[in-house]
Amino acid sequence: MKDVDYIIAGAGASGLSLLHRMIFHPFFKSSSILVIDQSLEPNTDKTWCFWSKDQDPFGYASMLEHSWPSLAVGSSNVHRSESISPYVYHCLKSESFSTTILDQAKEAANVTLLEASIESFSHDGDHAIVNTSEGVYRAKWCFQSVLSKPSDSSQSSDIQLIQHFTGWEISSSTPAFDPSTALLMDFNTPQGNGLTFMYALPFSETDALIECTLFSKSRMDETFYEESIKNYLESEFNLTHDQYTITRRESGNIPMETTSYAPRINERTLSMGVWAGHTKPSTGYTFSRIQTQVDRVITQLISGVDPTPAGQSPTRFRIYDLMLLSILDHEPANGRPIFDTLFKRNSIHDILRFLDESSHLGQELWIFSRLPYAPFFRSMARHPLKILQGGS
Ligand SMILES: Cc1cc2nc3c(=O)[nH]c(=O)nc-3n(C[C@H](O)[C@H](O)[C@H](O)COP(=O)(O)OP(=O)(O)OC[C@H]3O[C@@H](n4cnc5c(N)ncnc54)[C@H](O)[C@@H]3O)c2cc1C
Repeated sequence: MKDVDYIIAGAGASGLSLLHRMIFHPFFKSSSILVIDQSLEPNTDKTWCFWSKDQDPFGYASMLEHSWPSLAVGSSNVHRSESISPYVYHCLKSESFSTTILDQAKEAANVTLLEASIESFSHDGDHAIVNTSEGVYRAKWCFQSVLSKPSDSSQSSDIQLIQHFTGWEISSSTPAFDPSTALLMDFNTPQGNGLTFMYALPFSETDALIECTLFSKSRMDETFYEESIKNYLESEFNLTHDQYTITRRESGNIPMETTSYAPRINERTLSMGVWAGHTKPSTGYTFSRIQTQVDRVITQLISGVDPTPAGQSPTRFRIYDLMLLSILDHEPANGRPIFDTLFKRNSIHDILRFLDESSHLGQELWIFSRLPYAPFFRSMARHPLKILQGGS
């Protein structure tokens, strides 16, 4: 058994975010850090976006792929775009994120990178123990983001939706995109399989990532997303198939659930990331929440306090998430009118603040007062106990 101070099990968004902070903080200079992942090749599979007021969000400024000062939403053949100041919508590609941080790790004398499959976690009271295909490792603390959804029924949620999507990164032969504005949600695409919208990240006038996204119970056949993207490029950007090349494909499923996942595997192993419940259930956004948890863990370790899981969202936000998920689950046809009204009657900036959970109650009541009431009352009637328990 080999001993280190910290094990980071999983080198994805949360593992590498934690590692980045540890590498640059003087407190960890004399600590040994072991990073384990089944593959330490830089990941090209994800494009992470988030909004922030900071010029150097989370210290990642040099890794950002693109930043948009404006966002657009589309509905009923109308696109409305507006500045989201003081927020900026940022994009980070997993490839440059993992390349940069793994290179930093290779330069750091106190970090060891291990490519191995993690088989199990245990502890001996004072230490976390990680069993891998390449041996057994022991540490004061382990931070894991490798375990997927727990299968035991006590963790199952009565609403189990997913945000599922496929995107094409394309390069067009003629200028077609406005690189100053990202398209957050465009509902000008056939509905009928669950709330469906297009998402577009224009990196230049000729390069963009276009995604077809649904909020529903299960993935569609791959041809559905691909046909939707093809049709959308033609109808919204006048691009026929011979006018662009697909340079990369991206797809994923993000859980949209009100379940509280176990924040610890054992006394010495803390979970992070999606399966620690860091995803905002009603939107799928996770990246910023991971950074908040990383900050918290770093502060606790530096202060000599045992690291603890992130607290849950405030009760009222958990209830809002539950109500929206219930509507999307039980009356999906009402999803689009709700989002339409939300975007028509509120500034995008106000919606981002609300989704960030940094609005105050008065602002939230104002937003709700201008939405169709009935579906929300029906969702409350469907889950009275959960509402009383605070949404989870
Ligand atoms: C395609 C995609 C796009 C997304 N875009 C956004 C976005 O724009 N904004 C946002 O806020 N959120 C987004 N998300 C949601 C979320 O931010 C990401 O899923 C994020 O990567 C989650 O981080 P994580 O650390 O939990 O998991 P991951 O980043 O998936 O990392 C888990 C790591 O564990 C490793 N691993 C797994 N099993 C084992 C094993 N047995 N042994 C060893 N290693 C193992 C994997 O190789 C991986 O490196 C997106 C999700 C997906 C799938």
